[in-house]
Amino acid sequence: MNLLIMGAPGSGKGTFSSRLKDNYSLAHISTGDIFRKNISENTALGQEAKSYMDKGLLVPDDLVNRLVLDTLENLPEGVNGYLLDGYPRTLEQAKAFDEATKGTANEVDQILFMDVPHDVLKKRILGRRTCPKCGEIYNIYFKPTAVENVCDNCGSALSARADDNEESLKTRLGEYTRMTQPVIDYYGEQDKVAAINADNDFETIWAQITEALGK
Ligand SMILES: [Zn+2]
Repeated sequence: MNLLIMGAPGSGKGTFSSRLKDNYSLAHISTGDIFRKNISENTALGQEAKSYMDKGLLVPDDLVNRLVLDTLENLPEGVNGYLLDGYPRTLEQAKAFDEATKGTANEVDQILFMDVPHDVLKKRILGRRTCPKCGEIYNIYFKPTAVENVCDNCGSALSARADDNEESLKTRLGEYTRMTQPVIDYYGEQDKVAAINADNDFETIWAQITEALGK
């Protein structure tokens, strides 16, 4: 079974990726990990990617495609397929990926789209507070502390991530939707998209996922 998982920042994609990987014995492949691995192992593709990143440039679609395909050609023994995370990010990548894998063992079977309204994503991300001392994670909207900004466990002052402000998040979510909606529409035309209502508790979301994959 070959899966793509798509979802905006804060959609819970990471949590469900690890559950999917374990439950269905899939190779979990994120583009971030592929880049890091190829760069640290100094492969030819890694060197090429690094030359763009060093200049602060985006790695071009064509190179991203080659990195992903190369990784899929070398999946670990014993896996039942792949779970791709963070790819394809654009319609161009999706089309190239389809063209390269159509009719092969690496053709994608299903796209899981973790759908969460943007106002909920904003609360999840902007409301997040962590305890620097004991590592406990809170949310001012969904999991507040008894005393504002003080850890229930250890009494330390909580911290928020400095780069998560409302304006930058709005830009980030808008950009994400602008890039990925055409990808979702494209796979929708092939009847491969399962939209998961991910504004739910863990078990409800997981039940939707297993039902979608059981079909
Ligand atoms: Zn604490």
